[in-house]
Formats: sequence, structure tokens, C-alpha cells
Amino acid sequence: MNAQQLSQRLMKVAEYVQQGAVVADIGSDHAYLPCHLVHIGTASRAVAGEIVKGPYESARKQVHEEGLNDKIVVRLAPGLEAVEPEDGVTAVTIAGMGGTLIASILAEGNHRLDGVERLILQPNIHAQAIRQWAVDNDWHIVAEDILKEKDKIYEIIVLEPSPHRVELDAKQLLFGPFLLKSRGETFKEKWQRESTQWKAIAERMDKAEETPDIRTKKEQLLQKIALMEEVFKDENS
Ligand code: SAM
Repeated sequence: MNAQQLSQRLMKVAEYVQQGAVVADIGSDHAYLPCHLVHIGTASRAVAGEIVKGPYESARKQVHEEGLNDKIVVRLAPGLEAVEPEDGVTAVTIAGMGGTLIASILAEGNHRLDGVERLILQPNIHAQAIRQWAVDNDWHIVAEDILKEKDKIYEIIVLEPSPHRVELDAKQLLFGPFLLKSRGETFKEKWQRESTQWKAIAERMDKAEETPDIRTKKEQLLQKIALMEEVFKDENS
């Protein structure tokens, strides 16, 4: 593996890892990210955790082929169970999964985050679940990023521990406080795409027989559409 093979998405995640970190990459299919971080000298050591045997074997093979067996340990384990206290992990990366799964990995492994100074998270969808977890567990957002690669749009959320609860309002939870402020072109494109999808779903719901479940889902959808219209009203006027 070399820099050309590492996706722009994982490159961007790597940019937010602090210099000298001991990294745990959870869901580390092929261990590309920890290998890159050790090669460029950002991470001194790393743990690559995988829950599935096949990707775990690929990660072991990659680490071996890159001659990094003394710097990277690969463990077959669910979520943060891959992290042992003696690893001294200071940064956790979790990339390429849904936000709800990432939030559940953090919730289940919360007791293994002692000593962790930074979480760098890249949800493919539902970033809101991560922001909500952060609020509820006294982590605060220190940076957010967004990028488009091969026509897919990805968000990155960087969290650090906070001495107290840092509230986010409904707009900040959905759109991200930093992304909301910077409002770049990729951000606008993401929400344009989401809006088109939401409106299509709402239309289909209008035609379906109304059950309590459909009613609740439709209310949630309409709330999101209203938030979106509020956020983009200046652009559209
Ligand atoms: N992180 C890499 C990336 O961003 O390119 C791989 C992403 S891949 C789509 C997701 C990986 O996470 C899979 O290899 C999957 O087996 C693993 N995974 C899913 N749930 C997990 C969990 N609870 N604990 C550890 N690994 C998990």
C-alpha cells in the first residue's frame, strides 16, 4: 500500500490524528489507515481491531507485508474490546460505517476510552447519532470536515473529552456545528441530495396507508425538511 492507494477519505481521517498518538483503528479491514499513520510517523504504535475473520486476516497480512508487526497489533474483537489498558491508546479512529453503529461501538466500549484524547469518526450516514452520543457522554466536537470521493459524500467528526456537557441544538445535531458555519459546496450538495430523497419518501408516505409507525416517521421527516429549509432559506431567496 502507498499514499496513492489510500482513499482520500482515509487520508482526510489521518490528517486529524494528533502527532505522536497511539491509535486504535476499529473496523480496520486491511489495516490501511494504521499502516499509513505509522509509516508517515504520525502514530508511534497502533491497534487494528476487526470483528470479522476475513478482514482481520487481511489486516494481519497487510501489517506483516509492510513490516510493521512490531508497531501494529491486530486483534479479532468487537468494537473497543480490541483495546487493552496497557496499549495506552490516545486516539481512536472509526471509519466507513454508519453513524448509528459507530455510536453503539462508543457506547458499549465507553469504559475503554480512559486516556483517549481524541476520536476521529467518519460515518457514511447518520452522523447525527454520533453528535448525540458526544453530547450525552461529555465529548465535544473540535472539528468537522466533509469531502466527496467517487461521487459519495463523507463527513468526518473529531471529538475530544469535555469537562462538562456541551449542548447542540437540533440544527447543529443534524448538520454539524462546524459544517453549518462553513457551508461549503460539498455540504450544500449533500443536503440538496438528502432533501430530494426526503421529499420522495414523504410523497410515497402520503400515498401509503397511515399507520402509527408511518405517521411518526413522516413527522420526523417533515421536521428535517423544515430544518433544512430554514438553514438554506438565505441561499434560496
Ligand atoms: N475502516 C475501513 C475503511 O474505512 O475503509 C473499513 C470500513 S469497512 C466498510 C467496515 C469494517 O468494520 C468491516 O471490515 C467490518 O467487519 C468492521 N466492523 C463492523 N462492525 C464492527 C465492530 N463492531 N467491531 C469491529 N469491527 C467492525
